[in-house]
Amino acid sequence: HSKQNGGNSFAFYSPDMNGAAVERLMLKSKLRRALERDELMMLYQPKVDLRNGHVIGAEALLRWRLPGHGDISPSQFIPLAEETNMILGIGEWVLNRVCADYRRWQEKIKNPGRVSINLSLKQLRQASFIARCKSVFRRHEVSPTCFELEITETTLMVDPKRTIKLLDELYAMGLHLSIDDFGTGYSSLSALQQFPIGTLKIDQSFVRDAAINSDDATIVRTIIDMGKALEVEVVAEGVETEEQFNFLRNRGCHYGQGRLFGDAMSADEFLALVTSQESGRAKVSELFAS
Ligand code: C2E
Ligand code: MG
Ligand code: MG
Ligand code: MG
Repeated sequence: HSKQNGGNSFAFYSPDMNGAAVERLMLKSKLRRALERDELMMLYQPKVDLRNGHVIGAEALLRWRLPGHGDISPSQFIPLAEETNMILGIGEWVLNRVCADYRRWQEKIKNPGRVSINLSLKQLRQASFIARCKSVFRRHEVSPTCFELEITETTLMVDPKRTIKLLDELYAMGLHLSIDDFGTGYSSLSALQQFPIGTLKIDQSFVRDAAINSDDATIVRTIIDMGKALEVEVVAEGVETEEQFNFLRNRGCHYGQGRLFGDAMSADEFLALVTSQESGRAKVSELFAS
């Protein structure tokens, strides 16, 4: 009797789970219409050279502006999109949006820097992914060398052999590749050496307490050293305080992003920031004033 009802009976009778499940279903059905209703938005968070405060590019971050709900974070809706093929349409929209914004910036300023785009496992596994990338870059008349693809450490290790082949092709196109949320997985130096990776991004959970917790400090230092050994760039995520900034800079971490330098902003705001940098005005933070 209880077997036949399966796990569903539990979800059905628990008021908590019921609420959460209904909420998920509602969001999922609204997400299906988000693209056609033009509810998705792309924001850009500046990436900064910790040695001199120069903005060297940005990370493109997705937002869903759902009327009546405010902005919904991608950590809430990307997992829903990944359960279906919705992520493919969303991923394609992201790629197009970022290329269009980049093209517009290039018409106004000399060098917008490199812009990174987050990828989902399903996108990477899409048979036509490489061809789709090529055609989007061509359509918007932007060079792949202006872009970086961020792949999380966990995604990278799902089927390493297959992933290496794919990443080799993307790298050959001129794309820069980075490992996101680095430190949360278990990749070894020897495994990493097989991927054509140009950047390690230290997960913000380690950056948060690096200046006060010795375990986190050790992890951050180890990642910076791995980056040197592999001869790749290291970017610290989620830099919020001056203490974190000083810790990272003193340990030789060259790049960072976080609230201390600027939150994710609109394409126009990012353009204004780089414009003022090119004209010799304004740095991202007073930390670099002298
Ligand atoms: P992520 O790639 O690790 O992005 C960094 C996250 O840290 C972003 O959250 C960013 O807004 C947040 N952040 C920035 N500065 C700070 C800071 O100083 N402190 C703290 N605590 N957090 C900071 P967001 O925008 O909510 O994105 C969450 C995740 O969603 C991203 O993590 C990424 O994995 C995914 N994501 C975002 N955009 C896309 C996209 O276009 N496609 C795909 N597939 N995934 C995306
Ligand atoms: Mg990222
Ligand atoms: Mg990350
Ligand atoms: Mg993350």
